[in-house]
Amino acid sequence: MDRCYVGIGQLFMKDIKGFEKWINTPQKVVLTMHHKPDADALGSALGFAGYLKLKGHDVSVVAPTDYPSFLYWMSGNEAVLIYSSKTEAAVRDKINGADVIVCLDFNSLSRINELGTMVAEAPGWKAMVDHHLEPDDFADVTFWDTGAAATAELVYEIIEGLGDVGMINAAIAEALYAGIMTDTGSFKHPNTTKNVFRICAELVSIGANTSKVATSIYDTNSVDRVKFLGFALNERLKINLELKTAYFCITREDLKRFNSKTGDTEGLVNYALSIEGINFAALIIDRTEAVKMSFRSTGSFSVNEFAKKHFNGGGHKNAAGGRSEDSLQVTVEKFESLLLEYKSELNPIKETIL
Ligand code: 5GP
Ligand code: MN
Repeated sequence: MDRCYVGIGQLFMKDIKGFEKWINTPQKVVLTMHHKPDADALGSALGFAGYLKLKGHDVSVVAPTDYPSFLYWMSGNEAVLIYSSKTEAAVRDKINGADVIVCLDFNSLSRINELGTMVAEAPGWKAMVDHHLEPDDFADVTFWDTGAAATAELVYEIIEGLGDVGMINAAIAEALYAGIMTDTGSFKHPNTTKNVFRICAELVSIGANTSKVATSIYDTNSVDRVKFLGFALNERLKINLELKTAYFCITREDLKRFNSKTGDTEGLVNYALSIEGINFAALIIDRTEAVKMSFRSTGSFSVNEFAKKHFNGGGHKNAAGGRSEDSLQVTVEKFESLLLEYKSELNPIKETIL
């Protein structure tokens, strides 16, 4: 893949021509996003889907797994086809019958589980719209920028590049705004650029109700979820100030005890990172299918590299995830011994200049 370099560490390849080729001729389009979609993955897909429908395309949104109920308010949610053993045949038909398959917010077909082989083998033309580091080379057209805060930002830029900003309505604007709001940590992370504010200002002027979006996503907790948060903070958080690291280890029994639903653990890792003096945070959860891990950092420690090297994962420099097929105990032991290996990176000894 050809790559362009701008600034420090930013890579991008934004092929708007790849969209111009087909955008004005009705196509069968399937949009999909990474498993356990978050607001950026789902918002990008539903926002782009809303626009493509207005352009006259036959549009389907297919999700590899379910997603949190705090995203159900998005326009088009009711029509999302979620992969399961029951819907497998319908999903396969959609993917095989698509002229265009748009892959949003992921950079490797392994991120969409069973859909990965279906997409790889499908005859349709494939587009990747994403902002994660080190993408695989599976798409015919790439609209990719590691400097973008969110995939939703890139979807906006595609619509803008096609000269169609005037077609964005309030429902599309709110789906895109949700992706940007969450992937910037509510405009807190260093990825909150001038371009982010420019696009959000446009989305607000189109009619996005930012307060409604924030409330729907952040203020719809169940009692169980809030109690689980209290339990996790009190009983499951380990803090190592010397290594500037804090991490949660959550068992299957914990999830069961608090009736945990998809999305209930989202954001938990940020509480570990919010502690003064902590630069590396992890959330290690024993899920039925595997042990899942979320990593966050501030500063120079690359959790993307850490996740990729040791836990079969990836993501961004300061936010990444991974998985382990070992037991929770073995995984935590491995994680803890890695912390010691990374001691000099986690707590660099500053040289004193006399
Ligand atoms: P989260 O911790 O919120 O699940 O994910 C943080 C970031 O890392 C997201 O951008 C997500 O797409 C990415 N990510 C999470 N888990 C994995 C994984 O197993 N593999 C890869 N390649 N990326 C992941
Ligand atoms: Mn994203």
